[in-house]
Amino acid sequence: MAKHPTPMLDELEKGPWPSFVSDIKQECDNRAKNPKGLDYQIPAECPDDLLGILELSYHEGETHWKHGGIVGVFGYGGGVIGRYCDQPEKFPGVAHFHTVRLAQPAAKYYTAEYLEAICDIWDLRGSGLTNMHGSTGDIVLLGTQTPQLEEIFFEMTHKLSTDLGGSGSNLRTPESCLGISRCEFACYDSQLMCYQLTQDYQDELHRPAFPYKFKFKFDACPNGCVASIARSDFSVIGTWKDDIKIDQEAVKAYVGGEFKPNGGAHAGRDWGKFDIEAEVVGLCPTACMTYESGKLSIDNKNCTRCMHCINTMPRALKIGDERGASILVGAKAPVLDGAQMGSLLIPFIAAEEPFDEVKEVIENIWEWWMEEGKNRERLGETMKRVGFQKLLEVTGTKAVPQHVSEPRHNPYIFFKEEEVPGGWTRDIADYRKRHMR
Ligand code: SF4
Repeated sequence: MAKHPTPMLDELEKGPWPSFVSDIKQECDNRAKNPKGLDYQIPAECPDDLLGILELSYHEGETHWKHGGIVGVFGYGGGVIGRYCDQPEKFPGVAHFHTVRLAQPAAKYYTAEYLEAICDIWDLRGSGLTNMHGSTGDIVLLGTQTPQLEEIFFEMTHKLSTDLGGSGSNLRTPESCLGISRCEFACYDSQLMCYQLTQDYQDELHRPAFPYKFKFKFDACPNGCVASIARSDFSVIGTWKDDIKIDQEAVKAYVGGEFKPNGGAHAGRDWGKFDIEAEVVGLCPTACMTYESGKLSIDNKNCTRCMHCINTMPRALKIGDERGASILVGAKAPVLDGAQMGSLLIPFIAAEEPFDEVKEVIENIWEWWMEEGKNRERLGETMKRVGFQKLLEVTGTKAVPQHVSEPRHNPYIFFKEEEVPGGWTRDIADYRKRHMR
């Protein structure tokens, strides 16, 4: 039983959804019973006091966590987020309540033994409360005290070969979808790229040197299961260059009702007979599909690889064979200037081990951003402030129409002489002389 009365938090246990309040109360009971007979290294009332201080915050309408404070493990500049409360006498169990971030395995495959080993360490040296997973993807261990940090780090790295994740102005823990391990749409091995780049950029992960945070995410196809386009400064999304492969017999089987569309997923409703015109052809965003005389055709040069038709009829349509990835940059959450999706930088890049081409793009961007970025300015903000064209220059990317986000609304046109096809014409030179300084 929790010792602090929590009438306001108790309201959050009502309703159909799982409640974090119930979870914390469960941990309070667990700590009181101590079924494993652990010699808790932080006060056993930690989850109790967590509920108590949260209830107090709800009553007073203000937080009792103090912001800031540098804590960490020796040699690392990130991975632990310091948290202290301003009522340590009243709530000694959460006097310190530091968060430890651990790098999750690519695509989050675990064994039960591994998860149990993490929980054993955390029951002994932390609050027992975890967040699986944080929004960046890490395993998040919630609430421990400063003297435990080195012990936790030692046990995680030596016993479980698990490193700390990223925090602060550094590379955050990279994340990938499950890619070729389970998905037929995967255009590259996203897990391998995630793992390899995590290994290659250890310094950037653990020793903050950037203007602000920087996130990699790897989606193996445009379905985007880790939503890299919205959640990462550097988003790698699998794609293909050649044609979508069509099995006309399988198309007929879908039309005839032999195969169920969308893999049989109907969202609990009966949508009636499959209508290829309404459900596939008519929903193609670029209108590049036709279905005539029982034959499906795709004008592939106008296909944007949105995946809709392939998702709907996966047995009839397959991704092409010439596979690689697109790179998009600059997505971020809405702290400054609102939320921003990634902008296409590289339409197609090889995504083969050892990923040298991708790494070249990354390193060119970092070099520029570390020079140009203001303190606490995300790449997407630097890009907007200085101009996307600059990013094309520093990465050596040739401009293509897809890089243009909107028509020019500023009448002043600045360009370099060498950019004018056929050289500097007299008209332009005269114009500049008369109108520009
Ligand atoms: Fe159209 Fe999307 Fe299919 Fe391409 S992938 S043909 S854009 S529905």
